[in-house]
Amino acid sequence: MAAPQVGINRRILALNLGDPAGPFTMINPEITWHSDEHKKFTLWDDCLSLPWLMVRVARYESISVKWIDEAGKPQHWEKLNRALSELLQHEIDHLDGVLSTDRACPVKTKTFAGSGSGSAAEDAKAANGQAPSVLLSTAPGTVEASALYAEAERKGTKGPAAPFSFDETIISRAVYESNPSYWNAQVDYFIQPT
Ligand SMILES: [Zn+2]
Repeated sequence: MAAPQVGINRRILALNLGDPAGPFTMINPEITWHSDEHKKFTLWDDCLSLPWLMVRVARYESISVKWIDEAGKPQHWEKLNRALSELLQHEIDHLDGVLSTDRACPVKTKTFAGSGSGSAAEDAKAANGQAPSVLLSTAPGTVEASALYAEAERKGTKGPAAPFSFDETIISRAVYESNPSYWNAQVDYFIQPT
């Protein structure tokens, strides 16, 4: 986690990546290199400061970082793997006052009906002209489609013809946890719960 998350406005991260290093801090961490801007990967970002939300973001596949350790010694890691790369991009964003919601990213257009979305129930709903079970999204197209479906539901008529494009970017954790395989199918990378 990042110091500003607990009200300390210093450029410090507290990390615990397990054995053998255990907990340690990174002071003044900086990204010194990142992989191709056009080859980012997507994931559902999960933040301690926004525990009720899952946010789809795109991150660099790999980064290199430098920082100062607790003994005042300069340290660096080169070309990190996805897991560490996304974690440090998330944490360093906190130092810059940037939250996952600022990076909410409708990178993939999803077509519901017959999409093989991983959720037969959602596909069936779309085919029947019903709104999918999403509580919150920032994508303008989604809001518009949801409004059309709500209107159709109120009038007791069918909604717009499926398929429709649907960019879910910010969802509640409850929605995510109700069907993780469906949501995980919409991103390039996810962390298996342990
Ligand atoms: Zn966070």
